[in-house]
This record gives sequence, C-alpha cells and structure tokens, in this order.
Amino acid sequence: MASGSYRNGTSYSKPTKLDRTTSSTYTTPKPISKSRVSAGGGANIRRSNATPLTVKDDAGVPGRVRVAVRLRPQNSEELVADADFADCVELLPELKRLKLRKNNWESETYEFDEVLTESASQKRVYEVVAKPVVESVLEGYNGTVMAYGQTGTGKTFTLGKLGEDNIAARGIMVRAMEDILADTSPSSDSVSVSYFQLYMETVQDLLCPGNDNIAIVEDPKSGDVSIPAATVVEIRDQQSFVELLRIGEAHRFAANTKLNTESSRSHAILMVHVKRSIKGRHDGEDGFPVENGQASSLVKSFRPPIVRKSKLVVVDLAGSERIDKSGSEGHTLEEAKSINLSLTALGKCINALAENSAHVPFRDSKLTRLLRDSFGGTARTSLVVTIGPSPRHRGETSSTIMFGQRAMKVENMVKLKEEFDYKSLCRRLDIEVDKLISDNERQLKDFEDEVEKVKAEAQSRISEIERKYMISLENERLKYQKDYMDSIKKLEEKWMTNQQISKSNKSWIGSHEGCMDGGEASVPSTSDGMNDDKQLLKNEKALRQSSEDEVSSLKSQVTQWKRLEAAANVEIVKLQKKLESEAHQKEKLEEEINILKNKLLQLSFEADETRRSLDRGGSGKVFSGFDAFMSHARSSQIRDSANGQKASIAKLSEQVGLQNILSLLESEDADVRIHAVKVVANLAAEEANQEKIVEAGGLSSLLSLLRSSEDETIRRVAAGAIANLAMNETNQELVMAQDGISLLSITAADAEDPQTLRMVAGAIANLCGNDRLQTRLRAEGGIKALLGMVRCGHPDVLAQVARGIANFAKCESRASMQGNNTGCSRLIEDGALPWIVKNANNEAAPIRRHIELALCHLAQHEVNAKDMITEGALWELVRISRDCSREDIRMLARKTLTASPKFQAELRRLRIEC
Ligand code: ADP
Ligand code: MG
Repeated sequence: MASGSYRNGTSYSKPTKLDRTTSSTYTTPKPISKSRVSAGGGANIRRSNATPLTVKDDAGVPGRVRVAVRLRPQNSEELVADADFADCVELLPELKRLKLRKNNWESETYEFDEVLTESASQKRVYEVVAKPVVESVLEGYNGTVMAYGQTGTGKTFTLGKLGEDNIAARGIMVRAMEDILADTSPSSDSVSVSYFQLYMETVQDLLCPGNDNIAIVEDPKSGDVSIPAATVVEIRDQQSFVELLRIGEAHRFAANTKLNTESSRSHAILMVHVKRSIKGRHDGEDGFPVENGQASSLVKSFRPPIVRKSKLVVVDLAGSERIDKSGSEGHTLEEAKSINLSLTALGKCINALAENSAHVPFRDSKLTRLLRDSFGGTARTSLVVTIGPSPRHRGETSSTIMFGQRAMKVENMVKLKEEFDYKSLCRRLDIEVDKLISDNERQLKDFEDEVEKVKAEAQSRISEIERKYMISLENERLKYQKDYMDSIKKLEEKWMTNQQISKSNKSWIGSHEGCMDGGEASVPSTSDGMNDDKQLLKNEKALRQSSEDEVSSLKSQVTQWKRLEAAANVEIVKLQKKLESEAHQKEKLEEEINILKNKLLQLSFEADETRRSLDRGGSGKVFSGFDAFMSHARSSQIRDSANGQKASIAKLSEQVGLQNILSLLESEDADVRIHAVKVVANLAAEEANQEKIVEAGGLSSLLSLLRSSEDETIRRVAAGAIANLAMNETNQELVMAQDGISLLSITAADAEDPQTLRMVAGAIANLCGNDRLQTRLRAEGGIKALLGMVRCGHPDVLAQVARGIANFAKCESRASMQGNNTGCSRLIEDGALPWIVKNANNEAAPIRRHIELALCHLAQHEVNAKDMITEGALWELVRISRDCSREDIRMLARKTLTASPKFQAELRRLRIEC
C-alpha cells in the first residue's frame, strides 16, 4: 500500500502527476541498467536484452499476479430483495481479508493483495490495482490489468467508466491514460491505442466496426503477440482518448445489438502501446561496446536512437457466470463452448501458472493467446475480482473468490479456518503414536539391559566358582603329592636303614657264631623295624583315604556347581525366549502403528480434500431446515456442490471409522475431545451421515457430553451437532426419549456464550416443529427453556427462539384445525405472549418474520383471541396485515383477522377498519 493509511476507501490525496516515489502495493521494477541493442538495429530493448531482469514484487515472487477484490455496493433491487438476509461477504480491509459466509454458523476467510470495500473510491481502486502496472509500463515492461467477476458486479464500472459527469467516477482506463500522458512527451514518445472485443473466438475491432474478424499473429521467434490488422490510433491528449473510448463503447453496443449478443458475453480489450525514446544514458549502458571504459567516437556517431516499447492491456472480461450457465440458458452447445472457451482457458492458464506447471496452455483460446506476453517473465499483471453483496449469488461470488485466490498462486494463498481443525487433531494423534513408540522402545531397552545384567551376573558367578574350584583342586593335588612324596621318602629311608641293620647283623652273626649263648640279648631286634613299617603304611593308608575323601567332596561340589550352571543356562534360555516374544510383539505393535499412521495420513489428506472442495464449491455444511429463511435463499447450485462435499465427508468417516471418532469423544485429553466433537458436528451437518451417527450411538454420546462436560466449547459444538441431528422426526423423538429436552434446558440455563445459546435454541426450535412431541416438550420445560434464553439478547439467539415459537405455534394451529386441540395455546399459558408482542416488530428481519408467522398461527385458534386482544397482539396483527413486506404473511394476517369473530368485534368496537 502507498504511504497513506487506508480505512474503508478513504484515501490520501496525491498529485495527478505520476509520483514514482510513492508506488503503491507493488515495488516498481528496477530500470534496466544494461541492455544491448540487437545487431539488426532493432530497438526493442526489453526483448533483446541478453539477460532480462526478473521483475520481483514486494513478496519476492517473480511475476506474481496481484489480486484485489472489490465489493459492489447494494443496488436498489438488492436493498429490497435481500433486506431479510445478511450479506454473504464481510470485508476486513485493514487485514486485507474477506470473510465468505457459508451459512448461519460458519464463514471462511481469504487473504488478498488488496480488499476494496463497497465505499472504496475509484481513485483508490486505480492506485492500488492499476497504478503500479502503469508505472511498470512506463518503465518499459508489459502490463495487464484485468477485471473478472459475475455480470453486474462492476467490472466495466471499475475499468471503463468515463466519468464525464463526475470526474471522481473515472475508471482505470481513463486514469491510466492520464498518468501515461503526464509522463510521456509528445515530441519524443508515442502513445497509441487499439480497442477490440473478443466474442465467440472472433476479434472485432471496436474502432472500425467493419473490421470484424481480425487475426492474432504470433512471432514464432520471439513469441510476441500482435494484432497487426487492428486500428491503431495515436493519442495526443486525454480528451481524444475519452472520445475514442466512447466511440468504442458505442460500436460495442451496436455490434452486440446486431449480433443479438450481450456485452456481458464478450471480452473488451484495450491495448495501449507506449514507445519511449531513451535519452541521457551513459556510454556503454545501452549495450554498445566500450573500449578501455571509453565509447569509441565512431560508435557514438552511428548510435541508432534507442526506443523502449511496452504495452498496457486492460481486459474487461466476460461475465464469469457464463462458465456455468451458458449451457443452461438455451444456447447451442457450440455457442456455449465458444462463449466459455476463452474464460475457461484463462482459468486453466492461471491454474497452470499458479502451480508452476511446465506447460501453460496459452494456445487454447484467443484470449489466452492475446494475453500470453502479459504473464510471467517481465510482465506485471494485476487482477481485480469484482463481487456483489447479495447472498442469492453466493455460488458465483465464491467461485470468483476462488479464481482470485488461484491467481494469487495456490502456495501463496493464506486461508484462515477457525472451525474443525483436522490437521491439529492429526498432529496430536501423531504425537501420541510417537510417544507410544518411544515408550515401547524404552521398555524394550530396559528389558534387554536387565537380561544382559542377569547374564553377566550368572557368568561372573560361574567363573568365580570355577576359579575357586580350580584353586582348591590344585592345592589338594599339591598337598596330596607332597604327602605322597614324603611318605615314599620316609619309606625309602626306612628301607635303607633296615638294609644297613640287616647287613651289620649278618656280619655280626658271622664273627660271633661260636658264642651264641650270652650274645642273644645284645642283638638289635628286626621285629621293631617291622612294626614301624607297619605303622608307617597305616598312616600312609589313612592319608590316602583322607585325600580321596577330599577329592570326592570336591567332585561332588563341582557336580553341584555344574547343576547350578545348567539351571542358570535354562534361565538364560527362558529370558532369551521372552526377549524374542517381546521383539515379536514390538514388531506387531509397529505394524499396527504404521496402519494407524496411514489412516491418519489418509484422514489428513481427506480433510484437506474436503476443505479444498469446500473452498471450491462454497457452502460446506448445509443446515437445511435449520433456518428456513436461509435455506430458502440458497440456490440449487449450492445444493449441488454440497452433494460433492457430503460424499467426501462420508468417505472420510468411513476411512477413519465413525466408531473411532465417536470413541474419541470420551478421550481423557480435553483437546482431543474438542477436536472429536468438532469432527462429529461436521459430519452431523451432512444429512447423509446423520443416520450412521445416530446408529453408532453418536447422539447418546453427544447428549452425555452435554450432561458431563464442563467445557463451554464442547457443550456449544455438541449442542450444534444435536441441533443438526434433530432435523428429522426420528431423531427428534430419540432426543426426547434420551432426556434431551431437560439436558438442553439445563445447558440453556447455565450457558453464557450466545453461540452456545444459539445452538441450544436451534435444537429446541427443531423439536418444536414436531407435532407428536408438543405435549412432552412443553411438560419437560422446553418452552420455558426457550423463553429463558431471551435474557441473552443476542439477535441470533432471539431468531432461534422466535423460530421455535413459530414452529410450536404452527403445530398447535395444525392440531386445532384437525380438532385435536381445543384449549388455549401452551405458548400463551407459558407466558410467551408478552415477549412475542414486544418483538413482533423487531428490527432484525429473521426475528420479525418468525414472530409474525407465530402471531398468525396463534390467531387462527379462536380460544387464543381473548388473550391476544388483552396483551396487545391484535394491534401487531393489524400492523402485519398492512405493513408486512412479505405478501404471503400479510395475506395470512388479513385472513385470520377476518375469520375471528372476537377480533372483528374488537375492531368494530374501536372503529378500526381492516
Ligand atoms: P459488469 O461490468 O461487471 O457487468 P457494471 O460495471 O456494468 O458490471 O456494473 C453494474 C451496475 O452496478 C452499473 O449500474 C454500475 O454503475 C453499478 N456499479 C458497479 N460497481 C459500482 C460501485 N463500486 N459503486 C457504485 N455503482 C457501481
Ligand atoms: Mg460490463
């Protein structure tokens, strides 16, 4: 935006002369700093530029189509016809956003480069939409300004208004030429225009009516598009340009009358060719060779004049509604195709450009061929999409907005959605899945660590035992060996001693053989030695025995240790098996997680698809019957697009599983509960899903949320879903059977938020329309709850209360006509009449209409007449019969007044004629 601030169309004042320092929404492309003239001496600097500069706007996106949306003020017809309905769009110009109302409850927000309210001045529109393009054209770039929108939304007003009577009303064409003429000099520059229209793929010259099938020529080398046969008029002053536009308009009108066509079916194209001489350039800048920084004097003297050529194309497109409707308005198929061809092709090109497709189908139509060099590259393109405020054309308005959004490039589109945030639900579930996986992994890791620890402990115990066993075995062996050696040694010594003794004995016997008698007592005895030997052997045996005992005890210890080891091994095998089964379970878990993830991905994809289809098709949820006035106002086209969305949402619930979604209503996590109830409410808005939701127990879950939830958002959304489900009779009876009316009454008594009250009142209002529930509804406090909600004072709540009262009164009057109801109205008994009378002339149309109908219904039963007279309802009836803008209600009031003897008597008494 320019330097001035902007509020609802009031704009700063600026000199008429083009002021380059205050360029508006876009950044003016930098002047070409280095350009080369082609060898052939051609002077088109832009084209022959060896490395063309890429134009970047303030968003840094090369050649992005900039899109503004402009709302036309209500016209007199709409002021009357749409008086009852809220406008279908709400503009937030400060935020550059537009809210498109989908129904009573929802709206979608879109962001544009500029949002121009109904009070935006033509000057402001020019400055934000066209001025940057014009500046760019004066710099030597091609520029295009287009207006797209339904017939009657102000395309021609925006672009082509001449403003002769009121200069403030001048449109973009006139203002653009003013700026161009102010910035160019007649002596050195030239400005010329051609003006033609494109109708059924023929180009007709609007400056020379006989010239009615002009060829579009494309230069095969450069790809440049031109219309050489079109009349080109040199423009020297503003007056002659305006005159030319007037002539063109007249020819357009005449041509269309002759061909029996409407201008709304043709595209009007103004081409302004600007040729500028470039002066005062430094040497070398124009691309001529420079030697050592000095241009050669030869080159200087032969330098051809440098001219910059550019063109501004202003396109007043055919009415966009023709895309959908021409076929159904009695055209032949061929005609319909041709009418639509160019616009359809333009849409395709915009889509292709927005999606960066390799192929852009420019050649598909004459319009796109003509606009080929207006897109991308160094061209600057600006689109103004025009819309009207009427809710009756909601479908057209929505598709126009979506066209604009696509033109802004899909990826740059900023769309805000406050309701039904599927993505964050997915993210939340994703996080939960992730947490489960990491918990599982951690547990598994702990378990593995534990097993490792047990294994290591067992191993160390075994090695310790083995080590001890080896040591003691070795000790025993050594001890035994030593003892054995000792005893051998002792035996040997003994034996040696014995040998010596025996030897000496023998020699002694030999020398003393004669004197045997006295000598016997002194001979050492051999039996002593034998005894010693015996004793030694005995000891030896005992020693051996004790060693053997020791060995066998060690052996039995080893056996025991081996048994222990085997037991430890069994334990290890068991643990390993357990580990394997854990791993198997983990695998299974991971598989399940993957399936869950895929489902989530699908859910997210479906939700996006649904959202996209909602974006494309307009109305998402259809609260058919919820608000009789609104649904009445909807066109069949909206119903068609709603069918597609219904299918998509049904598919979504199939894929995720309604049961799963419903089970989330009981989630521990409050956020998940909120998301789930929003998803259920979204599904419940589609008639096709309602039966399935009820069958799956959704209604009971929603009612129990009303009973148990402390959270206002949950109660609000649940009540909204219940209101939707309670649109058919079977469900209404189910709501009643499950104590719904007392739950709704309690919610109504507790709630503060008008939106919650609106939903609750809407639900009760639906129940009020069921003939069979009248008695029970009233007995369980339904009417009282409804009347209690008027304390809030919010018009939306009051409208639902009024609708409930009207529904109830209608059922009562039906019952009394059939003779099933003879007593006074329950509404009157419950004290509704004073509020009805007080609001019968409420300034909000929906409240007023419902109450007017309620009064007419009440008046049809004569037993109510007395109370109605006492409470002043008769005067309201008289007013309705005279002033009501709806003829059917006026007639009904008149009929009831005439039919009632009591009313007639009272009117006669007061001498009032009716
Ligand atoms: P389109 O070219 O889209 O069919 P027009 O430019 O002919 O629509 O506008 C339809 C009618 O609405 C015209 O009478 C026009 O003067 C009026 N109109 C359109 N836009 C505005 C506006 N912004 N302010 C006042 N009147 C407007
Ligand atoms: Mg028009």
